[in-house]
Amino acid sequence: SDTRYLRVRIGHVTDDLYAIFLSDVSEQRRFEAMRRDFVTNVSHELKTPAGAISLLAETIGDASDDPDAVRYFAGRVAKESNRLTELVHRLIDLQKAQSMEGVMDMHPVSVMGVVRGAIGENQVQADAKHIDIRFTLGGEPQPLDAADEPVGSTAPDEIVMGDAESLKTAVKNLVENAIHYSPEHTVVAVGVGEKDGKVTIRVVDQGIGIPAESLGRVFERFYRVDPARSRETGGSGLGLAITKHCVQECGGTISVWSREGEGSTFTIELPAATEDDLRDAGTAE
Ligand code: ADP
Repeated sequence: SDTRYLRVRIGHVTDDLYAIFLSDVSEQRRFEAMRRDFVTNVSHELKTPAGAISLLAETIGDASDDPDAVRYFAGRVAKESNRLTELVHRLIDLQKAQSMEGVMDMHPVSVMGVVRGAIGENQVQADAKHIDIRFTLGGEPQPLDAADEPVGSTAPDEIVMGDAESLKTAVKNLVENAIHYSPEHTVVAVGVGEKDGKVTIRVVDQGIGIPAESLGRVFERFYRVDPARSRETGGSGLGLAITKHCVQECGGTISVWSREGEGSTFTIELPAATEDDLRDAGTAE
């Protein structure tokens, strides 16, 4: 990746004088390569379910006199087409998150509101696996409905500058993964804290964990630790890429700690809104 690519141009200055122009096009080359990879990946991701659907449709045609088989294959067609739809939605999310970076309107956002929304949207999946989502504010774990308490003296609300929808997507994806990659009857802890002007949102699970050699890559688009397993369960490989963009958009960072067989911890850090921010913007969303 340290290779530099130079473009050489020769310009004619006067009759017998020429000038050589060298421009460094390494960045541009890397960007083009990334875009090519992305298109290749997207095509592959779309082709797999699309191929499966046409094969399954053929099979249904062949099995038309066996109602059980028809029902079974029809179910699989539905599953594959859901996968296609899900992937398209994710691509739209990714596109949105990428294009918002740097141009987004920043508003004061209540972190509690974001976390509450993100948990709420995952509650059904958690219940289905008997996973207990616990909300932690600062130190001790608290019952989830503590997040419903009005913002006040006992539960100071953390406010950051950003886009509420975007931050909710970020946290929602983390909670979704925590549930997805954990066995039944485990705990997912979502914590919010503030220290030294930084607001931290932490999602901790007791799941399968991520091998050390994959930790650096999980935020890449389409990267999956175990492609077979992830596709089987409907993962697009885009969730964390989207999350990272959403967080960066709001001036934050995201990091991961994990140990295989023990669990994973994803930590989002965002600059807390300053008094000046709040004065300029009025009330929080
Ligand atoms: P996917 O749609 O496959 O879940 P993500 O971008 O959300 O895609 O995550 C990328 C990969 O990182 C996943 O395929 C999975 O291997 C790994 N991963 C993400 N979150 C967790 C987690 N909480 N526990 C274990 N592995 C995880």
